[in-house]
Amino acid sequence: MARINESYLNLKQSYLFDDIAKRVAAFRASHPEKNVISLGIGDVTRPLPQVCIDAMQKAVQEFADEATFRGYGPDRGYPFLREAIADGEYRSRGIDISPEEIFVSDGAKSDCGNIGDIFAQGNIVAISDPVYPVYLDTNIMAGRQVKLIDCSGRTSFAPEPPDFHADIVYLCSPNNPTGSALSRAQLQKWVDYARANEAILLYDSAYERFIREEGIPHSIYEIPGAKDCAIEFRSFSKTAGFTGVRCAYTIVPKALFARSDSSEKVSLHALWDRRQSTKFNGVSYIVQRGAAAIFTPEGRVQVDATIGYYLENAALILSGLREAGFECSGGVNAPYIWLKCPAGVGSWAFFDELLNRAAVVGTPGAGFGANGEGYFRLTAFGSRGATSEAVERIKKLMSI
Ligand code: PLP
Repeated sequence: MARINESYLNLKQSYLFDDIAKRVAAFRASHPEKNVISLGIGDVTRPLPQVCIDAMQKAVQEFADEATFRGYGPDRGYPFLREAIADGEYRSRGIDISPEEIFVSDGAKSDCGNIGDIFAQGNIVAISDPVYPVYLDTNIMAGRQVKLIDCSGRTSFAPEPPDFHADIVYLCSPNNPTGSALSRAQLQKWVDYARANEAILLYDSAYERFIREEGIPHSIYEIPGAKDCAIEFRSFSKTAGFTGVRCAYTIVPKALFARSDSSEKVSLHALWDRRQSTKFNGVSYIVQRGAAAIFTPEGRVQVDATIGYYLENAALILSGLREAGFECSGGVNAPYIWLKCPAGVGSWAFFDELLNRAAVVGTPGAGFGANGEGYFRLTAFGSRGATSEAVERIKKLMSI
């Protein structure tokens, strides 16, 4: 009989959002009259920018004609998109990333997990607690040793380089779930740590487009030395509403190396290139045309408008929660608001209270790791009406 990958047995039984969905379904079934508002899952709700729709419709039409029809595209992405990214996201900020260092993919989630393919099982992986669960679960699946780094209120939700050695470090800024973003000085410490430890930073910047404050880098490559030690993940999901369309990219600099068992330095760019060309057949041409459209002048305006809408929701949630007496953070450079549950109330107890008494759904901080216990995440991805209504309900609940 075939044997399984035993490491899968070390995963927690159910996925956080399944637990939430079950509780919400049970509540809905017993209270069909209640209008449940969800500020729980981190999914976008605004329509795609019109430039993306237009570009994708035009691309669909190309498939109707033999002269412009396309089959398989390049595994790493079409040059028009890789060039648009290199120009629009990097060169425009004075960062030298070449199109060949950009790998277009179907999602930052899959890339953050798949990247493990090119690293040995014996690496020690450092991951923040609380954390976006994908980093942790994919490394458990791979059977790697994971060491947690405190990212709680004790460190103002900013992970600091640990006093132990790690070979691989996942960083997420702006952060899911805490909504905080790492400053230049904080990132410099991580780059210094990585260089001193010959470690690789896996920098997830899926929420980069939400950054509003000066002094918060938009890319890890703004930090001197990062091209020798960091891989960056970006996504069109939260940037331009592509969660259902699927397009992302990963930067693997050519200057990035790790060691083989015989201590030889091997190019990670070459390994990732080999991995992608073997296991991935590229993102649809139609989708890549849609993604490239956000780099046009109209595209930038339309994306800014959508992000601005979500950030106004975030400001509304922040001010409402503070008025209601909550201690909260995030929501300035990110679509997530991280609030401290009332004294002595655990994350899941607060989840149940909010659901049962206000019909509002959020995400219990404990679902993101032990250090998330006592915290709760709300998202700014709802409609304006639903967001204001949820805030009013929470305020009312707290005033009783
Ligand atoms: N990275 C982080 C930190 C996220 O929160 C998410 C989605 O919620 C993703 C990556 C997933 O991105 P994608 O939709 O490109 O797979």
